[in-house]
Amino acid sequence: MSEDTLFTKIIRKEIPSDMVYQDDLVTAFRDITPKAPTHILIVPNKVIPTVDDVTQEDELTLGRLFTVAAKLAREEGISEDGYRLVVNCRDFGGQEVYHLHMHLIGGARLGHIPSVKS
Ligand code: AMP
Repeated sequence: MSEDTLFTKIIRKEIPSDMVYQDDLVTAFRDITPKAPTHILIVPNKVIPTVDDVTQEDELTLGRLFTVAAKLAREEGISEDGYRLVVNCRDFGGQEVYHLHMHLIGGARLGHIPSVKS
């Protein structure tokens, strides 16, 4: 498959991960370098490289990212305190893996999103 990414190998269980959820549309696993007590990546099973590649056909899958994020947040016990969902896009957005994914980050007060002056 030409569109293999690091995450497709995790989704297919060809490389190990701490997987916490999988269904027909998305897979979730713990980030290997967690930035907070809870740091889970929720990934479409289908490769969508970046947010810029999203089409209308992806709306069901992208909606599933949110419903799974909310479910996992409840399971992690971080729903009431709150948490952050992040999707990075390309270089300036800080995207390292070009397979669209949502970060579920929580378990501690995260503070405001840092501002950057141009
Ligand atoms: P991004 O910068 O938004 O592309 O996020 C990529 C994330 O993937 C980073 O937070 C990495 O720590 C995480 N990551 C990289 N390799 C792995 C892996 N093998 N298992 C789990 N998470 C990973």
